[in-house]
Amino acid sequence: MVNPIVGIIGGGQLGSMLAAAAKKINIGTVVFCDDKDSPAKNFSDEFIFGSYHDDDKINEFINKVDIVTFEFENIPYQTLKKINEIKKVLPKPEINLLVQNRLSEKDFLNKINISTTKYVSVKNDKELKSNIDLLPGILKTCTLGYDGKGQYKINSSEELDNLSPDFKKEFILEKLINLKKEVSVIITRFSKERYEIYEPIENIHEDQILKYSKIPSDINNNTSEKSKDWAVKIAEELDYIGTLCVEYFIDKNDNLYVNEIAPRVHNSGHLTINSHNISQFENHIRAICGLKQIKIKKIYDAKMVNLIGDDISLYRQKKFKDNEFFFDYLKKEIKKKRKMGHITVTKKC
Ligand code: ADP
Ligand code: MG
Repeated sequence: MVNPIVGIIGGGQLGSMLAAAAKKINIGTVVFCDDKDSPAKNFSDEFIFGSYHDDDKINEFINKVDIVTFEFENIPYQTLKKINEIKKVLPKPEINLLVQNRLSEKDFLNKINISTTKYVSVKNDKELKSNIDLLPGILKTCTLGYDGKGQYKINSSEELDNLSPDFKKEFILEKLINLKKEVSVIITRFSKERYEIYEPIENIHEDQILKYSKIPSDINNNTSEKSKDWAVKIAEELDYIGTLCVEYFIDKNDNLYVNEIAPRVHNSGHLTINSHNISQFENHIRAICGLKQIKIKKIYDAKMVNLIGDDISLYRQKKFKDNEFFFDYLKKEIKKKRKMGHITVTKKC
């Protein structure tokens, strides 16, 4: 069989790393992105610039690829559905629709007996004020938030009067968890009960943006096993194909909660490029293309640091040791709070 050409929607760093992983195993890629300067055009074989609503561009993309995937979840559902009628989209678009909305995502998790923080849908000021038992909490837009965008932390009911969320959007109020740690579990599912799962990764956020990730995580065995079991359960329930990330909260009493599901490769898994025989990116490509499943093996322990905003300038000048791996996303402009690159440092395990 000739290797398929993979279409990737979205051209940021995740798209770039997917394209690079595909190239490594001789799979061609076409990236479709609504930003003409997107970094992934430096890594893919072909690049199409266009709006995700432009039928001509979507058709051009469809005609060039055999299978389609995406690097971020906020792609219009109708676009994914339209593509899926002609070329298979994996993971399937319905999954995307479910987890695009924080409410339906949490409803799904609770339905399958997986714990989340307490939450309530909030459509107006009155509903917000009648749910003060969830304070301290975080008010989040149900859709289109990332890296803490569209979120308001509310410490007490006195703060409610100074708040003016735009209630044209749908919101969710989540009870704040007294965090001990955050971890994520990355799993690549190939088919029913066939998957590769990475050990839990410990994550530290600054200003709601991921800053550090490391393996091994410093959590107890019970929590580690539970977090992996839940990731398997979620992937099976969704009949998921490809790489999926489950983000978890652990509170001060060692209770585990799912924060969110990312139906894609994930920033916390960048370290798998250097720590494992097969990265989360290569596994994603393997699973969606129906290639051979290879048992994953950890080769090194690893720590990853995201280089945000101007951090990158310093690293561009630096010399690195053999166990330090610097990734420059080649973004055109340095912007504050923007992920510009990362560095992974490995250690014998
Ligand atoms: P995004 O979709 O922007 O990634 P998240 O919901 O994952 O947003 O929130 C980003 C970060 O904010 C989390 O990783 C965590 O550090 C903090 N956070 C969000 N919700 C809560 C919560 N309910 N309790 C405690 N911390 C939270
Ligand atoms: Mg998150």
